[in-house]
Amino acid sequence: MKKRRTLSLNSAAWKRLRAQVLAEEPLCRMCTSRGLVVPATDVDHIEDSREDYSDDNSRENLASLCHQCHSLKTAASMNKTVFLGCDVNGVPLDPAHPWNKSPATEGTKTAPSLLFYC
Ligand SMILES: [Zn+2]
Repeated sequence: MKKRRTLSLNSAAWKRLRAQVLAEEPLCRMCTSRGLVVPATDVDHIEDSREDYSDDNSRENLASLCHQCHSLKTAASMNKTVFLGCDVNGVPLDPAHPWNKSPATEGTKTAPSLLFYC
């Protein structure tokens, strides 16, 4: 039997916590890491437990994301294939992509000016 979330997404406590996180961090954390300025609309559990929904609602485990980034992260956590696309130089935006871990690309990255999701 599945456990219930420690805070129901419909509860007043979650709504207050969500509003607090969005007020403290109004921009999407993932987009910001790519050099983009995108308003956040969703609050993400960084470490999410899909097994039992025993989500850690501590502030350190919550991040503001835009809806698109939240959907992509959720899909990836469900082992679905997610493509973040590339910047204008062809460098993959996925920080886990092997190209972004190669020493050959260190120092040659430029800020992405456009973001395409495939
Ligand atoms: Zn985003």
